[in-house]
Amino acid sequence: MSDASAPRPSHEYIVVGSGAGGGTLAARLAEAGHSVLLLEAGGDPLQLSGDRLPEDYQVPAFHAFAAENSTMRWDFFVRHYADEEIQQKDDKYTADRRGVLYPRAGTLGGCTAHNAMILIYPHNSDWDHIAQLTGDSSWSSANMRKYFERLEDCRHRPLARWIHKLTRFHASRHGFHGWLTTEVAIPMEALGNRHLRKVLEKLAAKASHKIGARLHRLRWFFKTRGDPNDWRMVKLASSGLRLVPVTTQNHVRIGSRERIRAVAEKYPTKLAVECHALVTRVLFDGSNRVIGVEYLKGERLYRAHASPSNGPGEPCRAFASREVVLCGGAFNTPQLLMLSGIGPAEELARHGIEVRVDLPGVGRNLQDRYEVSVVNRMKDDWQMMSGATFTKGDPQYREWNASKEGVYATNGGVLAVVKRSKQSELPDLFCLGLVGKFKGYFPGYSKLITEHRNYLSWIVLKAHTLNNAGTVTLESSDPRDPPKIDFHYFNEGSDKEEKDLAAVVEGIEFVRAMTEELRVKGVIVEEELPGQHCRSDRQLKQFVRENAWGHHASCTCPIGPKEHGGVVSSDFRVHGTQGLRVVDASAFPRIPGFFIVSAVYMIGEKAADVMLAGVKN
Ligand SMILES: Cc1cc2nc3c(=O)[nH]c(=O)nc-3n(C[C@H](O)[C@H](O)[C@H](O)COP(=O)(O)OP(=O)(O)OC[C@H]3O[C@@H](n4cnc5c(N)ncnc54)[C@H](O)[C@@H]3O)c2cc1C
Repeated sequence: MSDASAPRPSHEYIVVGSGAGGGTLAARLAEAGHSVLLLEAGGDPLQLSGDRLPEDYQVPAFHAFAAENSTMRWDFFVRHYADEEIQQKDDKYTADRRGVLYPRAGTLGGCTAHNAMILIYPHNSDWDHIAQLTGDSSWSSANMRKYFERLEDCRHRPLARWIHKLTRFHASRHGFHGWLTTEVAIPMEALGNRHLRKVLEKLAAKASHKIGARLHRLRWFFKTRGDPNDWRMVKLASSGLRLVPVTTQNHVRIGSRERIRAVAEKYPTKLAVECHALVTRVLFDGSNRVIGVEYLKGERLYRAHASPSNGPGEPCRAFASREVVLCGGAFNTPQLLMLSGIGPAEELARHGIEVRVDLPGVGRNLQDRYEVSVVNRMKDDWQMMSGATFTKGDPQYREWNASKEGVYATNGGVLAVVKRSKQSELPDLFCLGLVGKFKGYFPGYSKLITEHRNYLSWIVLKAHTLNNAGTVTLESSDPRDPPKIDFHYFNEGSDKEEKDLAAVVEGIEFVRAMTEELRVKGVIVEEELPGQHCRSDRQLKQFVRENAWGHHASCTCPIGPKEHGGVVSSDFRVHGTQGLRVVDASAFPRIPGFFIVSAVYMIGEKAADVMLAGVKN
């Protein structure tokens, strides 16, 4: 089976998707002197003429509005449960779409264009597991750190930066010359609000007390400035209070979009960026060697877009002399593989797609976090939010615009605590205090943030799930239709002992204990969610089952042997093909760390290394 004779390829590489994986990889290959065509289904958020752009993209505090921005957003409606009765108990369920909103960004930069910008280094064991699984020592945690150092430009450890400049060394092992700047979203003192500061300082003191070994932890907090990405913290897989580094440059969002644009400007003959190009199929020669891709040219062609186009799109083809790399993310990469005849044979047959490689692992093994929110209503409004409308005209925007200071320079996260639950050997709970009302994703969720100025929400995020039973399957063989996504939460999934569930409950209890004094003193007037009535273990478990969500979907084309459900080898090559790789969140066998984007950026850099070494050889 061959996709006809190809004209002379105009590029060495084609990269599909410009998110954390694709953007990072495409830029590095082009910088190394190779010609790359980057195909992206969406437009550039700084060139699109849309409502609230470019501010939704640029202002850190507007990230929820970026995720709901109708110009950039792709809305997926996913099932947490196949069981309709349980599914309907989630008040975030959208009945007419038969699912729960799962935001994605169909735009240049992918989800780095709307994410909350939090950059937290994964656990070392995440990398060591891949090294063990594949026998490929280049995945060892000792080797992987160099990719973080290569991509980061750390701006929140000035002393470490200075020592590094003088001596080329620092124990923190941050990067100081990379393309991705990291900053800390305004230390507490700069919030300029005594009342808020006091509340947060109390919570911080309580948190370190609750976690135990208080003095030891405080010592580390000051030594490493509470920096979760400090190598000494990472090596210890430590828990305790943390500041939250974000990917901003002078408090303006930065992501793979900026990297792509900078490289394309510097090497215009090497990196060609084509937006509004929805790739529909990978093209092969008769021996399963990739020769290029087919795509539709046109705006808003994918039906997950907020206002999809009815136009047919212009059919196009592009050819690559070396390789094609799929980086469409955890939902779209398995979809594209299946549309190209690579996936579980019976699934392809159901949709009349000719099987090129029977690869049962494609679209299986979907993993995510479990997250819930403890939503507290405070007695008083946060002073710093006075007059905030989250629009261009308000005082907070004017302050951010003039000096890149104030509350809009933050992503709303003010304090984080890392904790190990009784269910896990590693720290597995990330509790993030957020100024605002947030209880997960549903259409219009960002409105809650504008409507209320007196909320403190604690997000409890459970990492290292034991559930890998989620699936991405085709809804139809039409490449413009989004796939079917079923997470199979909790009792429907693979964690039969429900350890994940118990860990999330532990997280809620921890956050409650931390905030108890504020409730007793009347600073918090009501815990709205889970709510005071919800106290027993049984009630809390029910709350978590019905309300949990996630936003780090991954692992749907995992690295690993085919016989064990693997889709790609340790060098990202798709089994049974030549010249085809996957480099995005779908490539992980197990979901890494607490926040996934750091690991995705890192594998973008690693894949570039592997591919460039291949060219040399
Ligand atoms: C609301 C939200 C907030 C988040 N906040 C954080 C955070 O603070 N920290 C963190 O670590 N993680 C966060 N994440 C997750 C993180 O941003 C993503 O997991 C990460 O960006 C995934 O990278 P990726 O390269 O796999 O895919 P993406 O970044 O999603 O990029 C995929 C790209 O491929 C394009 N594409 C898809 N299919 C095609 C096709 N057929 N043809 C052409 N182009 C295609 C898409 O348009 C998109 O641009 C957040 C996620 C969400 C939804």
